[in-house]
Amino acid sequence: MKIRKISIALLMLFIMPTWLLSQSENVDLAMIYKIKQEGMKNSGIEELAFWLTDFVGPRLTASTGYLSGNEWAKKKMEELGFQNVRIEAAKDFTRGGWDNLKTYAALTAPYYANFACNPVAWTGSTNGLIKSDVVYLDVKAEGDLDKFKGKLSGKIVLMPSTATYDVSFDPLASRYTDAQLKDLSMATSGNNSRRPPFDRAAMMAQRALRTKISDFIKTEGVAVILNNSGTFNVPRSNGANYKSGDKEPIAELNLPIEDHGRMVRLIQHNVPVTMEIEIQNKFFDSPTVYNVIGEIPGSDKLLKNEVVLLGAHIDSWNGGTGAADNASGCIVMMEAMRILKNLDVAPRRTIRVALWGGEEQGLFGSSGYVEKYLVDPKTREHKPDFDKFAGYFNMDNGSGKYRGIYLQENELVKPIFEEWLKPFADMGCSTITMRNTSGTDHLSFDRYGLPGFQFIQDEIEYDRGYHTVMDTYERLVMADLKQNAIITASFVYNAAMRNVKLPNKPVMKPRPNADQRMY
Ligand SMILES: [Zn+2]
Repeated sequence: MKIRKISIALLMLFIMPTWLLSQSENVDLAMIYKIKQEGMKNSGIEELAFWLTDFVGPRLTASTGYLSGNEWAKKKMEELGFQNVRIEAAKDFTRGGWDNLKTYAALTAPYYANFACNPVAWTGSTNGLIKSDVVYLDVKAEGDLDKFKGKLSGKIVLMPSTATYDVSFDPLASRYTDAQLKDLSMATSGNNSRRPPFDRAAMMAQRALRTKISDFIKTEGVAVILNNSGTFNVPRSNGANYKSGDKEPIAELNLPIEDHGRMVRLIQHNVPVTMEIEIQNKFFDSPTVYNVIGEIPGSDKLLKNEVVLLGAHIDSWNGGTGAADNASGCIVMMEAMRILKNLDVAPRRTIRVALWGGEEQGLFGSSGYVEKYLVDPKTREHKPDFDKFAGYFNMDNGSGKYRGIYLQENELVKPIFEEWLKPFADMGCSTITMRNTSGTDHLSFDRYGLPGFQFIQDEIEYDRGYHTVMDTYERLVMADLKQNAIITASFVYNAAMRNVKLPNKPVMKPRPNADQRMY
């Protein structure tokens, strides 16, 4: 028995090519050279950026723009020669379709001024053009609502806000400093600056008051609600809590903090303020979140059914054109695939790109993918493709260049990524951190211990673009995105070529009384 085993092992040694037995990371520098050349000298980044931002436009999940964005991506992937290109249903979407057809809002007294504002997604329309004085709902406690009883019907209502505008002396855009990257490379931060302690009671009280106010507004028959953008000076556009089939929420606009503040100050000085507003939004049946998928099939008889995945979310908020968040990620992933395709690579494993839908409303696309192919979410039992999953790389931190990668505490990949990053040290991308980063699609994989990663990126103008009407083509730093595509292409190529898959996180016994939530 023993002898036979040894002889088979010896036989295998002769049959298997020696590189298959090698334990160290073999980074194919000739291929890295080609990827760099193709990505720098023949880049498709600018073209892809134009089409997905200016041409396709905003891509709110389940909206017309989102659906046409998916169609554009599918067509483009086919044009670029990816295979098995498809738009694939990922998950049910309860909010349904919503399109903004018209938004007009202007101050009409004490003088005329129009506002560059943004309707809150999944809120309703006005009944034509509304002309009304603006009522400032100066409510600090529930009792304050009494004085507005019977006075708000058909009115434009300016909501109270706790946000103030603070002049900032920080630059608009920023990159990580060497010191910040050094800090990030340590398992825990040496930076002791602490946020003020979280006041849970105050938050709960605020939340309760907001619910009271919104119930009051509904029963009083308000025509339009005006909110402001928060601490930064551009209107943000997080959506309303709406379920398909609900009564359409009252029309609601998100104003820049300056416009909101100006009207509050006028009213506080007893200057009458009037506005005219017209909003047309369309609700429609659109009950599914999709993913757009394309592949470069694997070529190795044994490994071609294993999948290396790269991806980013294609949905955006409705303001702007979702450029930094997250057309940038999509075009980097598509460009990484284009580079590999143009170089006629023959990866051993299949390389698959996925553009996720519904990320902004809760990782619908990527979690739908995981639940369809990899893990039963209820029983946590593995599906057949689980053991063929060879890694996921995500980009969703704006337009800044990669400075390294988050390991999501997966110690096992550290020595591997150290080797993979070496050819990019002179591009400023060399930091490896054990820490977690959250908030986007790699979590759908990481939560089950699968190797899912997100790169460290310079912030650039992230605050200015984050979910705002300013998130347009101008926010994109093309040179950074070109580098990102090159590094992504190399990473997925390495993952598709190495002898064994990237390691999952080791399985731990569930802790008794452990918090059952995923995050
Ligand atoms: Zn995003």
